[in-house]
Amino acid sequence: MSLTFNNRVALVTGAGRGIGKSIAELLARHGVTVICVSKSPESCGAVADGIVAAGGKARAKAVDVADGAAVKKACEELLAEFPHIDILVNNAGITKDGLLFRMSEDDWNNVIATNLTSCFHFTKLIGRPMTQKRWGRIVNISSVVGLMGNAGQANYCAAKAGMIGFTKAIAKEFAARNITCNAVAPGFIKTDMTAALPEEAGEKLQGIIPLKRLGEAADVAHMTAYLCSEEAGYITGQVFTVDGGMVM
Ligand code: NAP
Repeated sequence: MSLTFNNRVALVTGAGRGIGKSIAELLARHGVTVICVSKSPESCGAVADGIVAAGGKARAKAVDVADGAAVKKACEELLAEFPHIDILVNNAGITKDGLLFRMSEDDWNNVIATNLTSCFHFTKLIGRPMTQKRWGRIVNISSVVGLMGNAGQANYCAAKAGMIGFTKAIAKEFAARNITCNAVAPGFIKTDMTAALPEEAGEKLQGIIPLKRLGEAADVAHMTAYLCSEEAGYITGQVFTVDGGMVM
């Protein structure tokens, strides 16, 4: 199925590596102008340069998504340059794992701020001009652990489950303005985030994944691009697992 994008502009957070990079590159291949956001200027800069070198349109913006004031400043600058940003993909995320009794308040706060509160800031700032234009697509990259929990990840599971509640609330608030908001919940995807897993953990995981392999970033990007397209205009408030069949 070919996807339609009518001269759209997208902002993808965490576009410097992994899943976000794959989403940014796929949207760009569909003719979307992509604003690549990451924490370090090097990673979003390299992705934006790569898109432009391949004939696409992209712009890099380095900002710490966990810093609300910095996000506000960055969004104001971007909206002055791009009068409409039609697509928002809230993808930036981190883990700081540990069993609850050993989890520090800093590790709790950092994970909530980076994964969840960042969605609040970006959606509020980028969503307002979307409501004026009466067209928009918002996709929040959650996780299967936000649906099923995971020992040692109370902070991350809370953030990812929070993103699902946030998605459903925004879907209802923004529906009258023709803006959809959905969540994608990846399973275990091969990126820097999962590279730290010991080899035996990877093998154990494959045992609980019906499709018997870890996912690729592109697997998540394809679902996300579909949800950002014209064709997905009647889908909102949903959570789509991309997990090789782990959650059924
Ligand atoms: P990744 O390879 O570690 O890349 C994370 C990206 O997020 C990087 O570009 C990083 O920026 C950016 N980022 C992190 N903290 C940031 C901050 N404070 N401000 C701005 N940017 C920040 O991660 P990934 O595996 O692609 O994961 C992407 C999303 O999918 C995350 O939300 C993650 O929770 C979710 N997810 C991943 C998996 C998986 O198995 N990989 C499974 C379920 C859900 P820099 O490049 O500058 O460091």
